[in-house]
Amino acid sequence: MKITDVRAVVVGNPWKNWVFVIVETDEGITGLGECTDYFSNPHLVRGIESIKPLVVGEDPANIEEIWQTIFHAYSDLNPRGYISHLISAIDIALWDIKGKVLGVPIYQLLGGPVRDHVPLYTHPGGGTLEEMVASAVEIKNQGFEATKTDPFSRQRSAGKGFRGADSVERLNARAIAEGVERMEALREALGPDYELMVDAHARFDVASAIAAANALEHVDLIWLEEPTHVENHEALRQIRENTNVPLCVGERHFTRWDYIPLLQQRLVDYIMPDVAWCGGISEQRRIAALAEPYFIRISPHDALGPVNIAAGFQVCMNTPNVYREECVSTWFPMFEKIITPMFDIRDGSIYPNDQPGLGIELIHDVVDEYLVDPNDLDKLTGRER
Ligand SMILES: [Mg+2]
Repeated sequence: MKITDVRAVVVGNPWKNWVFVIVETDEGITGLGECTDYFSNPHLVRGIESIKPLVVGEDPANIEEIWQTIFHAYSDLNPRGYISHLISAIDIALWDIKGKVLGVPIYQLLGGPVRDHVPLYTHPGGGTLEEMVASAVEIKNQGFEATKTDPFSRQRSAGKGFRGADSVERLNARAIAEGVERMEALREALGPDYELMVDAHARFDVASAIAAANALEHVDLIWLEEPTHVENHEALRQIRENTNVPLCVGERHFTRWDYIPLLQQRLVDYIMPDVAWCGGISEQRRIAALAEPYFIRISPHDALGPVNIAAGFQVCMNTPNVYREECVSTWFPMFEKIITPMFDIRDGSIYPNDQPGLGIELIHDVVDEYLVDPNDLDKLTGRER
């Protein structure tokens, strides 16, 4: 079997553009991958085009060889981040093809299941405190046993946020107090055993991160996520040494090499590699295995499209040290429109279906209605919907 074509398709929806990658073969079996990002979507679409010479003509069964070829072809650029996004999409699609050829789900090829379902967590919506609490209660009533939010509004913090010199954000006392109030309200409404996480979106200065973590200690979080920018592990260590709140990072760490210092230096309690960014199913499974002897659980970051969830699910089915898989449950109605079969979700968990490969297919007739022009930069980056 030979790979005959690789192409990206961008599916627009009211919230986000999803970048799916389709790998075609000369035997008519196609594989489905994903490398959705945010502002870098135009680069990813063009990147998929640019790696075609490394992929087309190869045997899709040789997943590891193709992974290594792309990774090392870009070693001078730093093959983590942008390149590992491209590798992820191809890797996921090749595992999908292998599963379809052999007629089994991917988790069977990874060594078989170690669980019969994968627990999820999702995020409450709403702007005001009351709306957020109502949304979280609804999520709990749907069967989810954990939820995550960012209670530190950019509007309430001292910096402007996310632009140039203001991108390291300082939380003033009022911003911290209001963030804590939101988490206390969730704890009160959801009960003492409900599992809560806070996402700081990698944006605080060290002093703010430490102050916020310590102010949240009594809320009893599962983790505080990405409290500061991730490029400097010494900053993370400083936060680590000054709070008892468990920490988690990973959506901005790519490939097994990025995880070595986090694990060896015991900088976090959980890791959250994204299967569509970290290097695909192959790499997410390797990262999980790397974390296992440190007794650290993975909790895949899955805030992208349905292929992201399907691929992370396959790894979680086979991985002993899993906490939960992330999802954005408000997107499920859109997933239901464009994939078949829809995920079997009951009581806040995904259950396996008996379909080979990833277990889902795109419904191309419907997908075609939502396609984004790959040359329309404003639409591709999500600046315009
Ligand atoms: Mg996050």
